[in-house]
Amino acid sequence: MIASLRTMTYDELKGLIEKGARIAVWSCNTCAKASHGFGGEESMKELASRLRSDGFDVRKEELMPASCYYDGIRVRKEKWVADGEYDEIDVIIPLACQEARAAMTELFPDKKIVDDSRTAGLGVLNDSGVCVLTDPFEWTGLDPSDEGLDLKSVARKLGLFAGPF
Ligand code: SF4
Repeated sequence: MIASLRTMTYDELKGLIEKGARIAVWSCNTCAKASHGFGGEESMKELASRLRSDGFDVRKEELMPASCYYDGIRVRKEKWVADGEYDEIDVIIPLACQEARAAMTELFPDKKIVDDSRTAGLGVLNDSGVCVLTDPFEWTGLDPSDEGLDLKSVARKLGLFAGPF
């Protein structure tokens, strides 16, 4: 499973989005959810609601079992087009891994895709159902760990964040 970290705080996220921009929050409900709740339905709904109460125009909440499948993202895009919703979105906030974000960037070239995640490496679920990092990617400078590294500690070391906005 992919271990995802968040690159920015909620205030930083708000600073990237123009007031009046029409927003979709698009969440992965699999690894990103297990990454301390960076993604998942609850995080998606909470972020959408927080942004709305701060005056932002959140038009869509899109939850995918696994957003990584390029074709799955493409199918949702086609549905947006068929439903006449495609042109009603300016900004997508992905609560998903870097790879899903890259697919969105390719499939939605005319939209702003917020660069809010980094993949720290591969992990497994611990006894509590939370992802721990076992095989960090080289850029992290961390060593592999059979027991798995806690993502919150990893995030602190890397100057990133773990969990929901
Ligand atoms: S989108 Fe990324 S985080 Fe979500 S299931 Fe796919 S690989 Fe895992």
